[in-house]
Amino acid sequence: LHRVPVDLGEHAYDIEVGYGLRNQLAEHLAPWNKGQQWVVLTQQAIFDIYAPVVDSLRAAGFNIHPIIVPGDESAKNIRYAEQVWSEMVELGCDRSSILLALGGGVVGDLGGFVAATYMRGIPFVQIPTTLLAMVDSAIGGKTAVNLAAGKNLVGAIYQPKAVLIDPDFLATLPRRNVISSLAEAVKYGFIRDVSIFETFETRFDDLVALNDEALLSEIIAKSCAIKAAIVSADQFENGERRLLNYGHTIGHAFETLEAYQGLYHGEAVLYGMKCANFISHHKGLLSKADYLRAKAVLDRFELPPLSKMAAEDILKVVAHDKKYINGKLNFIVLDALGNGLVSTDVTADDITASLGEVA
Ligand code: ADP
Ligand code: ZN
Repeated sequence: LHRVPVDLGEHAYDIEVGYGLRNQLAEHLAPWNKGQQWVVLTQQAIFDIYAPVVDSLRAAGFNIHPIIVPGDESAKNIRYAEQVWSEMVELGCDRSSILLALGGGVVGDLGGFVAATYMRGIPFVQIPTTLLAMVDSAIGGKTAVNLAAGKNLVGAIYQPKAVLIDPDFLATLPRRNVISSLAEAVKYGFIRDVSIFETFETRFDDLVALNDEALLSEIIAKSCAIKAAIVSADQFENGERRLLNYGHTIGHAFETLEAYQGLYHGEAVLYGMKCANFISHHKGLLSKADYLRAKAVLDRFELPPLSKMAAEDILKVVAHDKKYINGKLNFIVLDALGNGLVSTDVTADDITASLGEVA
């Protein structure tokens, strides 16, 4: 079992990572069980497989109730938040109730938002079931619902009481969902920890096949530790947290122009990292040798082909992004493998030149 402490002062909590953790939830949560009502927010496809997890908590004496929301992004809507709040009132949930978010990014974002707002805030625990949630969205306290006008426009920063990660949940996910989410793990290697990058270099096939439990637990725990450290140093995203945008500025443009259909988030970020590395080398920051090592790893991910996109459309989306501060694009580049930094002199021409990398 890996324990990653998240140092957020009065909001400090632990992330635990271990195979089989889902069968020990009762022991982990027992200290908080005072006989109050508990809620498990989840989706049908997850509940179909993992109802025994809820049953075992009930058998251990928890007053626990599943609440099911739609199985796609449409669940991140104020309408479903209201439905969950109302169900919780009917169940007799009060301020001592605890919400468990059992699912991927969708359930985590909605569950955190509901917990942040129900009776002005109740404790919640993240139990991520996708790799993206395990290494990224469950850490950092961002909770949100979408509006018709855009994603994540309404929400709160609200920290969980714990994040309990059992990598065994990944066994029932489609491979493409798991592999694309490794993008966020390799991202931490590029911006902060060369040992993660080296693991991808030497153990790529084992990682992708989820072959080695110890290796995967370690990569997840290291990823969580890096995100937690960056987020605790910069809870409100002024400085260091920008590093997490590495691969995301151009990646988001690809994602947007594909209308979130053909490309998974992680796949768009993998393409975005290829462009960012080209720019880092082109600007004289990243050596040719490091650029080529990075490229060799990124090229091992099998990606769906990118649709033809006009450079000016990509630049338009980048310009609409929030990453301009005082009129300057804040673009994350590398000056070595394992070291990301903010650059304010990446130009439209640099971005256009980098598109040759992914054409
Ligand atoms: P992500 O965290 O990758 O963004 P989502 O929250 O959108 O993923 O979940 C993707 C889909 O996979 C949803 O339909 C969800 O119900 C389903 N799902 C999540 N975790 C699992 C799992 N461990 N096994 C099977 N299906 C899952
Ligand atoms: Zn991302």
